[in-house]
Amino acid sequence: MTVAPAGARTLAVPGDIPALDRLLNDAAFAALLAAYGRTEVTAALRGALDALRARVVDGGVPIAQAGTPAIAADVTAALDARHRRALRRVFNLSGTVLHTNLGRATLPQAAIDALVDAAAAPVNLEFDLGSGARGDRDRVVEALLCELTGAEAATVVNNNAAAVLLVLAALANRRDVIVSRGELVEIGGSFRIPDVMRTAGARLREVGTTNRTHAADYADAIGSRTAALMKVHTSNYVVSGFTASVGAAALAAIAHASGLPLIVDLGSGSLVDLGDFGLPREPVVRDVLAEGADLVTFSGDKLLGGPQAGLVVGRAALVQRIKRHPLKRALRVGKLTLAALEPVLALYRAPERLAARLPTLRALTRAAAAIEAQALRLAPALRDVLGERCEVAVVAMESQIGSGALPTATLASHGFAIRMQRRGGGLDRLDAALRALPRAVVGRIADRTLWLDLRCLDESDEAAFVAQLARLSP
Ligand SMILES: *Cc1c(COP(=O)(O)O)cnc(C)c1O
Repeated sequence: MTVAPAGARTLAVPGDIPALDRLLNDAAFAALLAAYGRTEVTAALRGALDALRARVVDGGVPIAQAGTPAIAADVTAALDARHRRALRRVFNLSGTVLHTNLGRATLPQAAIDALVDAAAAPVNLEFDLGSGARGDRDRVVEALLCELTGAEAATVVNNNAAAVLLVLAALANRRDVIVSRGELVEIGGSFRIPDVMRTAGARLREVGTTNRTHAADYADAIGSRTAALMKVHTSNYVVSGFTASVGAAALAAIAHASGLPLIVDLGSGSLVDLGDFGLPREPVVRDVLAEGADLVTFSGDKLLGGPQAGLVVGRAALVQRIKRHPLKRALRVGKLTLAALEPVLALYRAPERLAARLPTLRALTRAAAAIEAQALRLAPALRDVLGERCEVAVVAMESQIGSGALPTATLASHGFAIRMQRRGGGLDRLDAALRALPRAVVGRIADRTLWLDLRCLDESDEAAFVAQLARLSP
């Protein structure tokens, strides 16, 4: 078969496709080789050439697509996609500030600096620089936690679920823990108090009813097998109507009268009174300890605004038992967590500066008027790229705090309500296009409307938000 010279044809034939070796030595591949190395580039190129050859044999491939520049562009796209980080920044415009699926709290600059520092070098994680002896990693934050909560001792594990599991395993193995039926909570992602109890080897002794539990219910349930009384903060729902529950102070009195500890799982918990910041109140760790709780557990990345962690604070003798339990070793945090946690806790020493310095609190306390002004400022850019397809309205909306904290409280906010001009036309596609941006924009679809709540769009991120919008143009 004789092949017509390329100049006389418009469609490629297999003979037009350059050989792999020649391509690898072509200047068009130099930058790729420098970026990804020979192994990766060769494999990607081989894949691209095989696919191209199959398409050419099928017929209908324009000759330019079999040329070196087109092949280099294909391989670049394939390698860039393959090497894109799986974990990436997004814009959280979902309206939920502490969004578990989006990684909850974002860290203050001081914590980011400490994290980078600790990542880059050996650190005195379990090494006492004074004596040169082996140390305890909890020491990095224990004194701060005690200072901020009034506790005698503290320990840190991976998350609050781990903290509850560890406390129960260490203090209540094969013994009873008394909990109100109104507090047998399920937190998203399969954390259920009865299951955690069983996994820890503790026996759940339920008392009271779903809506009402009285002091006598606890007192009557105490027996020779009882290890502790436990109170669980009903963080993600509210029991209202004909209800009764027993507060920490009364429960502590009942527990202590029988020589038992009171364990409180606060869920989010807070180190400061959020009421001081104009927010709905959450229990404050220091207050719950002062009321007599012997151990309190709470999360590092909920209202505290730090890295994922589970904090246990309380009586020294109990914390000692917890630290010695083998599960503590399995659930311990790494140096990066402790590096980030320490500066976050240190910010609480200056509560009057907290709303400016702690991103979580800054987002929660942003004034609706400031968010509205931001929405009005950004609306023209959004309307520009979405053009005739959609109607973009600046509207008032309600943000949620998230992560189970303050489930019924919402915060007045503002943002965009985007509707398609044609009924049913392409709202899901627009949502997908926003998620496909270099820094994905995560909104929320409800009532045939895409809602973008601007509460969590920090003003320092506005330019980056606007800059990538151009890619949405049809
Ligand atoms: C959130 C929560 C937990 C789990 O905390 P994580 O840090 O997510 O593991 C446990 N108990 C309560 C009451 C909670 O609100």
